Amino acid sequence: MWRILIVEDSPTNMMLTVEILRCEGHLLLQAENASKGIEIARQELPDVILMDIQLPDMDGLQATGLLKADPATAHIPIVALTAFAMKDDEQRILAGGCDGYIQKPVRYKEFLEALGSIMRQRGGAGPRGEESK
Ligand code: MN
Repeated sequence: MWRILIVEDSPTNMMLTVEILRCEGHLLLQAENASKGIEIARQELPDVILMDIQLPDMDGLQATGLLKADPATAHIPIVALTAFAMKDDEQRILAGGCDGYIQKPVRYKEFLEALGSIMRQRGGAGPRGEESK
């Protein structure tokens, strides 16, 4: 089980992402904008943050920059959720401090595989309560 913070302003995308992760038994925290996401991240120190890029109050990469600049939250892996598919965006996302990215719309199996692979690269450990594979 991971404690996962999802920062996403689209109710449809939020619902879909929550559905998938909840089925896997993860504990979810939700924020519909960047400032709320930053606040929750600082309070709750989640295991990973899924960060939408286009948010109403602040760019998701800007929010990522703030979290990575703060010693309290710098260690938390941040995975960008992006509808962008272009190479430039991939580089922009990784240069912006994100630990990886997942393309939207998220699809069940691909999404979980991508998230698992980013988490393994990042920490080496599997989800809590599981043997690492
Ligand atoms: Mn959005």
